[in-house]
Amino acid sequence: MKPAAFQYERPRDVAEVLDLLAQHGDEAKILAGGQSLVPMMNFRLARPAVIIDIGAVPGLGQVSRDEETVAIGTRVRHIELERPPFDGPLSSLLADAARHVGHIPIRLRGTFGGSIVHADPAAEWCLVAQALDAEMTMASVRGERVITAAHMFQSAFVTSIADDELLTEVRLPWLGGDWKTGFSEFSRRAGDFAVVAVASAVRLADGHVAEARIGAVGVGAVPVRLAQAEAALVGQPLGPDAINAASDVAGEEVDPRGDIHGSADYRRDLVRALTRRALS
Ligand SMILES: Cc1cc2nc3c(=O)[nH]c(=O)nc-3n(C[C@H](O)[C@H](O)[C@H](O)COP(=O)(O)OP(=O)(O)OC[C@H]3O[C@@H](n4cnc5c(N)ncnc54)[C@H](O)[C@@H]3O)c2cc1C
Repeated sequence: MKPAAFQYERPRDVAEVLDLLAQHGDEAKILAGGQSLVPMMNFRLARPAVIIDIGAVPGLGQVSRDEETVAIGTRVRHIELERPPFDGPLSSLLADAARHVGHIPIRLRGTFGGSIVHADPAAEWCLVAQALDAEMTMASVRGERVITAAHMFQSAFVTSIADDELLTEVRLPWLGGDWKTGFSEFSRRAGDFAVVAVASAVRLADGHVAEARIGAVGVGAVPVRLAQAEAALVGQPLGPDAINAASDVAGEEVDPRGDIHGSADYRRDLVRALTRRALS
């Protein structure tokens, strides 16, 4: 099918985007990579009266870092994060996650910020953001605000971004050389959305786990932090015994529902296995 008729706007800077959003409110939709919005419009699941294409807006497509954070501009494409412009454990995590996002044509066009706002319950970037406590900056004519991933993801495909707000960037904590990261995903076919995926980041001090962040998708409407598994790891040497024990805890602490892709028990088992792989 073809989309319903809409007015097309191509603003040249952020201020113009914000004016258009303020003017049109819930009648308008931002167009980023179009990899979720356009199919939804073609199926008439979305019928925005106004499309605001941010493709020509400067300043939204950079990855930058300082000593404490990495800032990912909303329009950074999935494929750019397959080779982040820095090295280290965070780079490996982003690269591993990026390679699981759809297929190459989708990764060439789809954007980091579009994925966050679309908030698919199985999306890799939502998982990474939740696992690392990302901070998200939203701008509107009313000003700027920053919220954490935990406040952003409300339910499946629902975030706390307001109709007149533009997501401008997402900040992840910089992970130094004492961190180890891992990403593990199971999907039915290569390029499909995850049935379950797990992301982990562990800081080591004297061979023991000093800090742990583990997240999962595919076990609920939003990405979850596996707090009990994290607690089970802290203070332990990062070897097979601690990894197996924490992975068992991870499988127990999630509360998935069964669907056509797998029963609740099957998803628990996947969480167990994928946590083990991510940590290993
Ligand atoms: C066949 C197929 C397979 C896919 N597989 C995966 C997968 O495995 N994993 C995965 O995570 N995704 C997958 N996707 C989705 C893909 O990652 C999309 O790129 C992503 O979900 C949306 O990003 P986008 O830039 O294309 O956003 P768009 O489609 O342009 O927009 C999506 C939504 O976000 C809003 N939006 C976008 N940017 C902003 C902003 N800066 N501020 C406010 N609102 C904004 C739009 O208005 C719209 O509501 C797949 C898509 C397809 C078609």
